[in-house]
Amino acid sequence: MKIVLAYFYPELLNLYGDNGNVEILSQRSFLRNIEVELLRISPDTRVDSMLMAHVNLVFMGGGPDSSQKSMYEDLLKNKGPYLKDYIEGEGTGLFICGSYQLLGHYYKAADGTILNGAGIFDLYTEHFGERKPRCIGNTVAELSSDILGDQIFKNVNKLGDTLVGFENHGGRTYLGAELRPLAKVLTGYGNNAEDNTEGAVFKNSYGTYFHGPLLARNPHFADYLIAKALKISGEELKALDDTLIHSAHTASKKLKQ
Ligand code: GLN
Repeated sequence: MKIVLAYFYPELLNLYGDNGNVEILSQRSFLRNIEVELLRISPDTRVDSMLMAHVNLVFMGGGPDSSQKSMYEDLLKNKGPYLKDYIEGEGTGLFICGSYQLLGHYYKAADGTILNGAGIFDLYTEHFGERKPRCIGNTVAELSSDILGDQIFKNVNKLGDTLVGFENHGGRTYLGAELRPLAKVLTGYGNNAEDNTEGAVFKNSYGTYFHGPLLARNPHFADYLIAKALKISGEELKALDDTLIHSAHTASKKLKQ
């Protein structure tokens, strides 16, 4: 088996160790004898449907407003249409914070600039500048019933119902009526500090505010993504010794916000 990971904008969108997610996906695949090919997609990389047809999993990290301003036009014009086809065609993807925001309709930055998004996720995000405090701190959230009830997740889940992480964003994200959240906030702010939702699920793609990097302390979600990406049931993924990681996850649930 082989997994092709496409890491978009690795130089621009990589806050709080987000690139660790790619390392975790690679390492957990490697330990199962799954060959890993990593494609690094920068603004000057040409993307087309031929390239996307080979991709099993897309990853994009977070970035400050300044980085988002540097790449959003390239996303909109050059990569967005192919990403839209990929995601709407059931492709697997993970999008953290700044990139999660840019998959929506628009992101209104702290200085009021509107960055048009790729319009793939039915959501929008606004930063209220000085008028509202940033959402910063440790986070715990309960995964949505859609994921907990998915047989693939049940097959790979040796840990529990929660995601843990760390968030640091000024933008507040509001989901469209049909878009399902990834999780319910137990500790932290999540999408907007108002409605207890965290992240979003659209087909096989996931957006979240959780850095950390997310997958380092959430190996069940990492394996879920690998199984989804490879279109396997998850039972084929050999169990790994995650004792220490499980301890880190459990300890994280007790951290102060
Ligand atoms: N610039 C965005 C915000 O502050 C995203 C930050 C991030 O990716 N952590 O809302």
